[in-house]
Amino acid sequence: MQHTGFSHIDNADRNRRVVLNVIRAKGPLSRRKISEICGLSITTAKRLVDELLQEGCAEELPLEQQPKKRGRKPTGIVLNGGYAHSIGVAVQPGMIALSVADLSGRVVEERTFPIGGEHAEALIERICGEVRQRQSKYRSRGQGGLLGVGVGVAGLIDAGQGIVLYCPNLPGWENIPLASQLKRELSAEVLVDDAVRCITLAEKRYGRGIGLNTFLYIYIGRGVGAGIILDDRFYRGSGGLAGEFGHITIREQGPLCNCGNSGCLEALVSQDAILRSVRELTASGVYSALKPKISDQQPLTLQDIEEAAEAGDKLANMVIHNVGENIGTGIADLVNIFDPGVVILGGEVISHLGDHLIEGITRTVSLRGIHSITRRTRILTGSLEGSSAARGAATMMIERYFDSQILNLGHGVTRPEPAPRPG
Ligand SMILES: [Zn+2]
Repeated sequence: MQHTGFSHIDNADRNRRVVLNVIRAKGPLSRRKISEICGLSITTAKRLVDELLQEGCAEELPLEQQPKKRGRKPTGIVLNGGYAHSIGVAVQPGMIALSVADLSGRVVEERTFPIGGEHAEALIERICGEVRQRQSKYRSRGQGGLLGVGVGVAGLIDAGQGIVLYCPNLPGWENIPLASQLKRELSAEVLVDDAVRCITLAEKRYGRGIGLNTFLYIYIGRGVGAGIILDDRFYRGSGGLAGEFGHITIREQGPLCNCGNSGCLEALVSQDAILRSVRELTASGVYSALKPKISDQQPLTLQDIEEAAEAGDKLANMVIHNVGENIGTGIADLVNIFDPGVVILGGEVISHLGDHLIEGITRTVSLRGIHSITRRTRILTGSLEGSSAARGAATMMIERYFDSQILNLGHGVTRPEPAPRPG
């Protein structure tokens, strides 16, 4: 008897989730259309839609484009973005970014804060201060409830436990149970994941990954990593750490990597690796227009290399050529294994040198990969502006609200923390 009772509740919950996700993906929709898409009777669909309207997470809008039937104004059910908000934070070398998104994923506020060599504890305190300000701001403005806080950290993250294991480019970020610490400090739901996975999620929902069930996102910046989406879910591996693309060996006798291995992709194509190559080659006597800048001990940037390459500097173009081949060699292996259809590239190296790199990467992938796979594989650069890591971090809490399974963390649904009644 008890068993039947539970499955009834499970069923009702499942149907509610199906209806809500269809409205999210395809709204505005009529009640009849919702019943058809969800495979529910019109009575059940109508009842569920009425419940969602009453809750406030969906709303009914006039459908301007449809002809009126017998004087009745046709209406469509859409998601009510303002029903709830989610706060996203990204911790990356050199900056913290914060993004507040509404339930539809629209960014309503975005900020970045430069960081120097501050220790992890000081930065966590700062994050708590910034999040608390938003918590009270979004509560007091009557902008619905708060779903919680998503945090993306550039490093090795156990997302299931919310633990930051190790961040080679962030001092002191080691073995921090960040999710439980923030949960306690902020009295909010908290999810923590790798910043690269957060960007992957942002690309999936708002960027080049829209409509793709399977794709790879490759980040090339201070570090190198991959986000893997297979059949609309993150692939995390048996221990949750899959995607350490930066540490595959490309050159057996190559330069030493942060991880202790030598010849890793990251040691050859990361931002620091590229700047180091240019410095070493000019020091060894190779002519470059960049040489005066380097001898003046000025900080060399990717932008300098980008400008030199555009002006036809041979050394800059040779370094870019080698970097493109190395990235392409790594991606060819991934493409052979995953047959992803689409590979999206992002990160500082791509935003500065992407236009110069893409041809070499694509050529190397088709040279080294299996032709039947690579001829169907599209290699694209990401399309998102601003801090996509923070936007993706905010989106994690939204995914949990919709119980969309994409995070593949096995956590339950999050209901928003209700906004206090005015007065
Ligand atoms: Zn390595």
